[in-house]
Parts: sequence; structure tokens; C-alpha cells
Amino acid sequence: MCIFCEKKNVNTYIVKESLFARVICSRDPITENGHFLIIPKRHHEKLSSLRIWEMIDLLLMLIRVYMKVNTFHSGAKNLLINEGLVAGQTVKHLHWHVICREEGDDIENMHKKKPKKTIAAEQIATFRSLLD
Ligand SMILES: [Zn+2]
Repeated sequence: MCIFCEKKNVNTYIVKESLFARVICSRDPITENGHFLIIPKRHHEKLSSLRIWEMIDLLLMLIRVYMKVNTFHSGAKNLLINEGLVAGQTVKHLHWHVICREEGDDIENMHKKKPKKTIAAEQIATFRSLLD
């Protein structure tokens, strides 16, 4: 079973949920300004394998998160999916990254940079209220 399907791996990090999608804080954020993963609740490796209602729900969640993130981080962001190993997909459960960037954060390849630290429970609670 993949790490996103094992609820014990994601429960602590959930900041928002809908019928078919959840938003979690990255366990190993590459920036401290906010690094969120929008994931379908059902296991799908590729965007193309989602049912249309799951895709719509996921995209609506992406828009909601994007709009909320803009209220506390209006600067640069990455909104991206890595689909396939060659494209950098490390977890075979589709996930959309929303990463708050800043000048000089020195992140050219998110998978080459080692995370600075794991996210603290207090920071997850803060992001949960910011995205509410
Ligand atoms: Zn999965």
C-alpha cells in the first residue's frame, strides 16, 4: 500500500478535505512558507485515471487552496504535478504540489534539495486555520 493510502501516514498532516480530495502539509517541506499536497482520496497514479467527478473535485480543491494561499503568500508559487518516474514522481499516488517560493530559496530541483526539517505540529495547525 502506498504512503498516501495508509491513513496513519497522512492523518496528522491533513489541513483540508473534500468528498474526493484531501490537502496535506508536506511531511518534509522544501520551504517553510508552505508546501501543500493535494491528493485524491482514492489511489490513482495518473491524472488521466481519475473519474471526472474526482478530477473536478481535485481541481476545485486546487483552486480553493491557491486562493487561500494567496491570502498569506502572494508571491511566487509552484503548482505542479510530477507524473511518471522520469518526470520526478516519487510517490505513485497522484499529488499536486503547491509550494510557496521566495527570492533566493535556491530550489532548482525540488527532489535534489534535501528538506531543511520536518514540519512541526504547530505549523500544521497554523496552516490548517489559514486554509480554512
Ligand atoms: Zn495511494
